[in-house]
Amino acid sequence: MARIFRGPPWLGLAGAPMTIMARLAERIVATVPTMIMRPAPGRYTQRSPSNILSASLTRDVNDSHYRYGTQYVTVAMYRHWGDSALRTHRRAGWLVVVCATTLSLALTACSSADESANSKTVTVVAAENFWGDIVSQIGGAHVKVTSIISDPNTDPHEYESSAQNAASLATADFVLENGLGYDAFMDKLLAASPHDGRDVLSVEKILNVTGDNPNPHIWYDAAELPKVAAAIAGELGHLDPTDQAAFTANAQTFDQSLQPLLSVIATIKNKYHGTKIAFTERVPGYLVDAAGLVLGVPASFAQSVEDGSDPSPSDTAAFNAALTSKTVKVLLYNSQVTDDETTKIKQLATSSGVPIVGVTETLPPTDRDFQAWQLRQAQQLLTALGG
Ligand SMILES: [Zn+2]
Repeated sequence: MARIFRGPPWLGLAGAPMTIMARLAERIVATVPTMIMRPAPGRYTQRSPSNILSASLTRDVNDSHYRYGTQYVTVAMYRHWGDSALRTHRRAGWLVVVCATTLSLALTACSSADESANSKTVTVVAAENFWGDIVSQIGGAHVKVTSIISDPNTDPHEYESSAQNAASLATADFVLENGLGYDAFMDKLLAASPHDGRDVLSVEKILNVTGDNPNPHIWYDAAELPKVAAAIAGELGHLDPTDQAAFTANAQTFDQSLQPLLSVIATIKNKYHGTKIAFTERVPGYLVDAAGLVLGVPASFAQSVEDGSDPSPSDTAAFNAALTSKTVKVLLYNSQVTDDETTKIKQLATSSGVPIVGVTETLPPTDRDFQAWQLRQAQQLLTALGG
């Protein structure tokens, strides 16, 4: 009888570990077809021609060294129907094992394929690191974010794209850009790296910023950022629906984390509403407006700096006069984008005793995240105004 359950010859040829495997296989082959082929007791008796079967059964129970109850019926069937039934049964048994194995492998493959389709890592390219940081906060472990502009020592307005940037866009699921001409290079990059299924969002469109020559530094508009967070969470949820709840929760956490910043801005507005300040570029423009501060120097000076052209002599003279007379209480200085003209302004502010608050275009590596950066700058502005 041992011959019946030996399994295929190749299993027996391969040393001790394979012998254990072979025994396991034998048990599967012996048990699975038995369970499948064994008729229900009533039908079994009806279809059995005589009591030969039960006699065989009894004898096998006594004689066989096999102790698995369900196998006795199979053994009895072999005895009754002979070698051809045995061969058929064994073939059926292996077929069952092969099918079960194939099915289980297929199911495993399916379930891992389903998993990757349902819960995936969304590949994101942000044009600037402040937007990239916010996407990272909302996406958590479900996103891989690359930010194109992140160098604190370069002028984002004069950024030129690289081949590496094009490569990252070619595999991105989601691209977030600022818009308003701030990252016009993105259009060229996106056109150069076509990728089906890539979604492109711009904060300009999310916030519906319109008007003639709007200030492009819209990430300084803290009160509007929850709209951007919601749009990011919505887009990530569209690309990775399984994690939509996490994205929504993370966006709410982000919104709440803006409270200290909004609170400092409200304090400035309460205490210093209408106070004149100066800036060399519109970088902190939305912060200045939200805090109720007033630009005390010609706006065209900052526009010239932003455009990379020389301010007019009359604008420069007016700026200088505002500093020396201290009609402006603080100079907000773009420490990331400087030139001879702004360096002279900074020196004049220092010699005139006008406090200077450095602001940057992009998120500096020394700040923990977007909120920490903006909060630090707002607190420095409050301190410079007199606390
Ligand atoms: Zn700028």
